[in-house]
Amino acid sequence: MEFFYTSELKPQGWLKRQLQIQAASLSGNLDKIWRDVRDSAWIGGDAEGWERVPYWLDGFIPLAWLLDDEDMKQRAKKYIDAIIAFQKPSGWICPCKEEEIATYDTWAVQLISKVLTVYYECSGDERIPDVLYRVLFHYYSLLKNGEIKLFGWGEFRWFETFIAIRFLNKCYGEPWIIELARLLKEQGADYLALKERWKRPLNKWTMETHIVNLVMALKAEAVCADVLGLTYKDYTEEMRSILEQYNGTPVGLFTGDECLSGLSPIQGTELCAVAEQMYSCELLYAYTGDNKWAERLELLSFNALPATISDDMWAHQYVQMSNQIDCEKFPGRSLFRTNGEEAHLFGLEPNYGCCTANFNQAWPKFALSAYLYEKTDSTLRIVNALAVPSTLDYEGIRISLDTEYPFKNRFSYRVNAGRSFMFEVRIPEFAEKIEIAGKEYTRLPNGNVKFEFQTGETATITIGYVTTPHFQVRPYDLVTAQCGSLVFSVPVAYEKIMHEYTKDGVERKFPYCDYEYKGVGEWAFAYAGNVLSVSEREVDEIPFPPRILLWS
Ligand SMILES: [Zn+2]
Repeated sequence: MEFFYTSELKPQGWLKRQLQIQAASLSGNLDKIWRDVRDSAWIGGDAEGWERVPYWLDGFIPLAWLLDDEDMKQRAKKYIDAIIAFQKPSGWICPCKEEEIATYDTWAVQLISKVLTVYYECSGDERIPDVLYRVLFHYYSLLKNGEIKLFGWGEFRWFETFIAIRFLNKCYGEPWIIELARLLKEQGADYLALKERWKRPLNKWTMETHIVNLVMALKAEAVCADVLGLTYKDYTEEMRSILEQYNGTPVGLFTGDECLSGLSPIQGTELCAVAEQMYSCELLYAYTGDNKWAERLELLSFNALPATISDDMWAHQYVQMSNQIDCEKFPGRSLFRTNGEEAHLFGLEPNYGCCTANFNQAWPKFALSAYLYEKTDSTLRIVNALAVPSTLDYEGIRISLDTEYPFKNRFSYRVNAGRSFMFEVRIPEFAEKIEIAGKEYTRLPNGNVKFEFQTGETATITIGYVTTPHFQVRPYDLVTAQCGSLVFSVPVAYEKIMHEYTKDGVERKFPYCDYEYKGVGEWAFAYAGNVLSVSEREVDEIPFPPRILLWS
């Protein structure tokens, strides 16, 4: 299935509010306040010139276009203009000297290629296909002639290039494009050969157990099948289930601080991994159509993501934990295997700055995954993959979904069919007592419902279902309460202690300062019975609202 563009799909309701909060906070201001974006070598400055600007743009661009924010669009264009202006006649685009290319980790080439694709899909900027053609043809020539070889991050993230390769192949269809994909696959890490290493946590840092590499790699089989025309056999499920069995968390993550860390609920998971696992699930669902990836995406998006970013989205943790009673700097040695003693604090760049740049893609790309489509010369199939409030306008068809899901399980779709099409709504496996009214439908084997629309038809479809709260049994005799896609936690009262300071030339100043959350309330609880009930309340202006907080 294909993704819609930002000109066709717009967030509404709580999802729009969430994106507006993001635009008003760190994401929407990194180019003003954070040296690694503001003064990046990508735009002629002297700060980091490798992954941070591309990471930021990968989220900032779709955010700007989803919200139709002219100022943000112009600021994104300023960066893209500067990046394009730097491109050498050879096609090389990264900010390093050409004589340094052989020792340059080309993860930056892979990443900027993806960002240029995202920029084109949002802006329609006609310069991009040619810029990207020259970037990737040069990359192909270097690899083919043996002038460079994949190593480091580029060796472990080779499949990320396939986003741009897919786009370029559609534009140009020249044989070297697929040949580049083959070269990358050949030289890149084969994750399935590494699986024995994921069964026991190491107290050392390795590329093979690095959590962000691993969750990025979940998409490798699907993008290879798509670009190289291979059969998708779902080896990915084997990979995922090993990671889950030995490193799983209740919200569908794997521990990684920052390498695989086992099953203890006090080990952390890096925020980059949350954003990247969401993106992998989005592509896996689009390319395989298998509902399990969309269900897993929901679990990550509604739990792992909001839990690790402050409500105003100015501060985030480097690592989150399932059982977290306190976010104070560890006295002495860190509890984490390879991270520092501040990695779980909320702040501008606790532990390391990658997540500051990379978390930006999570909500915007989630919003862009709400609907997908499949089209032939005569048929069109539109699938509502995520039942979140949004409006779709495509080829004269308008679909508006009014809902407060995942907080409430009631859905109202208003459909105006400017042309005939098949409309499918994904119904999660956990939905019970499903009620559908307003139009005739068919129930598909995967549980989805299907509606046929003829040209000129309009309808309001209402769907409702029940979700039953239940316990999820975890290792170490622990249980988690879950209902639908929501995993519940006990709110621990805490004091928020603000830290403003400058370190290594990076200023932390309110609102982009660091915070310790000092736990001051009861936190040791056990369930006394096995009956759970859920009570619904109004959805807050902040969709995932504040926990119990005492300022000090
Ligand atoms: Zn990170």
